[in-house]
Formats: sequence, structure tokens, C-alpha cells
Amino acid sequence: MNKEQEIARRRTFAIISHPDAGKTTLTEKLLLFGGAIQTAGAVKSNKIKKSATSDFMEIEKQRGISVATSVMTFEYNNLKINILDTPGHKDFAEDTYRTLTAVDSVILVIDCVKGVEEQTERLMEVCRMRDTPVIIFINKLDREGRNPFDLLDELEEKLSIRVRPLAWPVNMGSDFKGVYSLYDKKLNFFKVNKTRVEDDVLPIEINDPVLDAKVGQRDAGQLREDVELIEGVYDDFDRQAYLEGKLAPVFFGSAVNNFGVKELLDAFCQISPEPISRTTDTRVVQPDEAKFSGFIFKIHANLDPRHRDRIAFLRVCSGVFERGKFYRHTRLDKNVRFSSPFSFMADSKSVLEEGFPGDVVGLYDTGTFKIGDTLTEGEDMKFQGIPSFSPEIFKELINLDPMKAKQLDKGIEQLTDEGVAQLFTLVSGNRKIVGTVGELQFDVIQYRLEHEYGAKCRWVPLNYSKACWITSDNAQKLGEFIRLKGNQIAYDKDQHPVFLAESDWILRMNRDNNPDIRFHLTSEFN
Ligand code: GDP
Repeated sequence: MNKEQEIARRRTFAIISHPDAGKTTLTEKLLLFGGAIQTAGAVKSNKIKKSATSDFMEIEKQRGISVATSVMTFEYNNLKINILDTPGHKDFAEDTYRTLTAVDSVILVIDCVKGVEEQTERLMEVCRMRDTPVIIFINKLDREGRNPFDLLDELEEKLSIRVRPLAWPVNMGSDFKGVYSLYDKKLNFFKVNKTRVEDDVLPIEINDPVLDAKVGQRDAGQLREDVELIEGVYDDFDRQAYLEGKLAPVFFGSAVNNFGVKELLDAFCQISPEPISRTTDTRVVQPDEAKFSGFIFKIHANLDPRHRDRIAFLRVCSGVFERGKFYRHTRLDKNVRFSSPFSFMADSKSVLEEGFPGDVVGLYDTGTFKIGDTLTEGEDMKFQGIPSFSPEIFKELINLDPMKAKQLDKGIEQLTDEGVAQLFTLVSGNRKIVGTVGELQFDVIQYRLEHEYGAKCRWVPLNYSKACWITSDNAQKLGEFIRLKGNQIAYDKDQHPVFLAESDWILRMNRDNNPDIRFHLTSEFN
């Protein structure tokens, strides 16, 4: 196979959902279809649950699961499909946002009983920022869910995206009879014994009397009415609008019963995008360019305590990544090479000789990488779209063992390079401030500092609720503002000044009073 064919057969995507909607279950069913796993139950949920007494070993164990299932690759219909897993827990939302920078499309799972939930909205905001194509799977049809038309309305309203059903359920809950595919005009029956056999799929003309015989007159009538309404209300499915992130096709099914999953997968194979182009600070990079380029979107500590090295996840964007070849690490301006890069299979790792655009390559790293770092064959550029977001919880890091100050410094540097949290240094007193989006990170950092670096710390909560990166065209004004605001100014790890605000009100006031200063809620700005 030549390089163009290799690129064209890759599909790299993430499944996202509010916790408990069925992401893990759906992932597992997809892997079963792909033959990547043989038995149900092989994919462990990477849900991080915090019990009343937080059990750190449990967090560690769960982190272990999440690295094992970070990327799952399988072959289906001659396509090479890479599923990138995202943590469901909201304290790890930033991790999810960054993973979404490395995919070309997503499947969003919705619970038909609960509809659009809080995390669903946040995740979709991130998808819309980058116009990521979205397919929606409405799950748990075996339960008494909400009216499908109401669900579609809610999706459009809360997620600000147009939707187009490509499947339609015949009832829900105990009366659930199946799903009619508006895509290829077939009716797929849900068997009571919950196994699905090919014979249950009936190509059917919607007005064929066989429909009445199969599902009963009442349900057949209702289906005809619904389909007529849908075809009247919605335009034909517009793939281009889907690829531009403006229109989301909607499917219905039940992941745990493996119902509607194959239809979803088949449609995904037909409509989802090949590896797409990506933007750097200097230009747009196309996947079919001759030279290799890629970026690091995730870094994970090695779980084996005897090895201090880490695993960096590289998304290949163009050219071919080759084992043992020198590449340029553009931030450090130095050449690096990797003797044992690996690919991720569902339950194992294997050494990788070549990686094509769309692929995710695992690299052993001894501390040279930060999230967002770019590798090229020499060109000086940096991939965009991997910003830091303003944290919401801020605490000061206090060293409890003066003999271990070096270890603590190194530990917090490395953990924040991994993207576990953000590190700021307050101008006054050189104090170290750690900012996160969730409380859980502080427990994780404290635990890891002690177990991986031998350093003990405690946290002092701070009153801030926002960190804004500040810039100005007027260097003098910026300098004045920084001097004036003394203890509200900190620097991030790249030495960019940040304004720490106690409340939205204070932020607004400062913004109004300082028209020459620009306040940015993400670290990526022009
Ligand atoms: P995640 O948090 O999104 O990964 O959700 P899981 O895949 O772990 O599923 C959460 C719960 O919902 C589990 O108990 C699943 O067995 C259940 N579940 C998943 N799919 C379905 C479905 O189609 N119907 C029903 N009734 N339950 C489901």
C-alpha cells in the first residue's frame, strides 16, 4: 500500500459523553466488531471515582487503566480505526480537551433518559471551537427514554448544532421494537432475547404491508408518520455540512445490547473524515506532505515506579514517522530520535516502524516533552490549538521538607509539563501557585510528589477563580499594569504574565479600567 492509501484508510476519533451515558460500553462493542478484543468486559472503564475517603492507590490503579486504554486501534472494512479515549471525570476535563485536538472527528453518546447533560455541553463547546465533525448516538433505547423529537430539539438548542436523524426508533423501553435506518431504508428488529442476527434486518419500503405484519399496525402507522415528518422537516443529509462541523447525524440504539452499533460503525466508516489538515503558527500542514510533522497531545507518567520515564503521545500530522530517525524538537531546537516507539493495540503495545498521518505513536520520554511540543524534519513551526485554559481552583504549594526542595521543584515542573495542572509563579515572594479545573488533581499531585519524587507538600487554598493571560500593544502600559497589580500578577511556565482575579466582577472591572490591556482566558492568542 502506498502512503496516500495508508492515509486515506485512517480514521482517528474520540467517543465523548457525560459519565454513565455508555461511552465505555460503546467502545467495547466497536472493538468487538473490529476483532480487537474477543470477549465483552475486556475494556475497563477508566472512570475515576472519588470516594468519601479518597483512596490514592485506587486513583493510581485507575490511571493505569486509562493509559492502557488511551488509544485503541482496530481494523474494520479495510480501515485502520484509532479510538482515542478521554477521561469521563470532570476534574480531568482539560485532558479530554487536549485529546480532542488530536482527533479528526468524534462520536457523542447521549443517554435517552437524561438527554443533554452538563459535560455534554462543555465537550461540544470544545468540538465547536475547532469545527470537529460530530456523530451523535442516542443510547439506552431499551429504557423508557424521552420522546425522540424532543431529544432532537434539545440537542439543537443546547448544543448549538443542526441535527439530522439517520435512524429512527420504533418505540422505546419495554416496547422497543427496533430501529429504522433512514440512511439505507432498512428496518432492524430488536429481538427480545437481546441477540441480534442478520435475518433481523429487513430491507423495507416504508409502505410495504410486511411492516404492519412485523411490528403491528399501530407501530407501523406511527413509524410512517414519523418518517414522513422527518423527511418533511429535515433536508437531505449533507455530508459536507457534517465535515465542516455544522451538522450532526443522529443514530439510535442500545450499546449494552449491541443494538444499532454496527449501523453506527458502518455509517461512521462511510462518512467520517480521513486525517485532516492542521494549523501551525506559520502555515497549514496537509497530511499528504512529503515531510513528517506531528505534535504531543498527552504525556503520561510511567506506572512502573522503577522507571522514571514517561510516555508521550504523538499525533502524526504529515509525512511518515520512522523509527530511529532524527527529528527536530522545535521548542528546544534540538534533534531527537526514538529507538523503540510503539503503537497501541487494545490490550498490548508493539514496536512501530512507521506511523502515518492519523496515527498515534507512543514515545518513551525522559522529560524533554511538554504538551503541545512539535516534531518536524527540520522546519521551525508549532502546531496550534492546544491551549491552556484558565484554571478555576488555585492553591499555593508549600514545601514541608526543606531538605527536599530540589525534588519538589523538579516534581512540580515535570507534573505540570504532563498537563496535570498549571504552574504559576507569583512575582511577590516567588511563591508557587498551582491551578487546576478540579480538586482531584491536588490529591493526585501531592501523592505523586511524595511517591515519585520523595517530596512532601501541603496546599494553601487561594481566593482566585480565574487566570487571564495579559498582552498589550503598548509595552509601557503593560509594564505599569504589572507593577501596579503586584500580588495579582504571576508568570506561567513560559514566562508569560498572567492576571489572577478573585471574581468575574474584579476581572471585568480591570478590563474596563485598562482598555490598553487584553485579557485572554486561554493561553493561545495572537
Ligand atoms: P461511560 O461512563 O459513559 O463510560 O458509561 P458505561 O459504558 O460505563 O455505562 C454506564 C452504565 O450504563 C453501565 O452500567 C452500562 O451497563 C449501562 N449501559 C450502557 N449502555 C446501555 C444501554 O444501551 N442500555 C442500558 N439499559 N444500560 C446501558
